[in-house]
Amino acid sequence: MEPDTSHSAADPDYMEMIGTCAVCGYVGLGDEHDICLVCGWHDDHVQRRYPDSTGANRDVTLRQAQINWKSIGMSAPYKKDLMRARGTNWKFELNPNWRPLTGP
Ligand SMILES: [Zn+2]
Repeated sequence: MEPDTSHSAADPDYMEMIGTCAVCGYVGLGDEHDICLVCGWHDDHVQRRYPDSTGANRDVTLRQAQINWKSIGMSAPYKKDLMRARGTNWKFELNPNWRPLTGP
């Protein structure tokens, strides 16, 4: 039988990773609505569950935020000031179970 290539690997379940930023994978978030100090993402459990939805991050979806993180090092361009405030004196660990969404 031919392997089924019509589906990519399942997307990760970010609801199982509360405390880990769904955008960048770093550990250190508290309750919902915490701001990730690494990428600036505003933790939103609806967006965790539905990565194509908008919510606490203006018009930026989780999927788009992951693309932004990869290309510009923050979850959205409008987070720039926050990222500047972050400075360089931060250290977080990456959740080894985190991985980005598999595709559009
Ligand atoms: Zn983050």
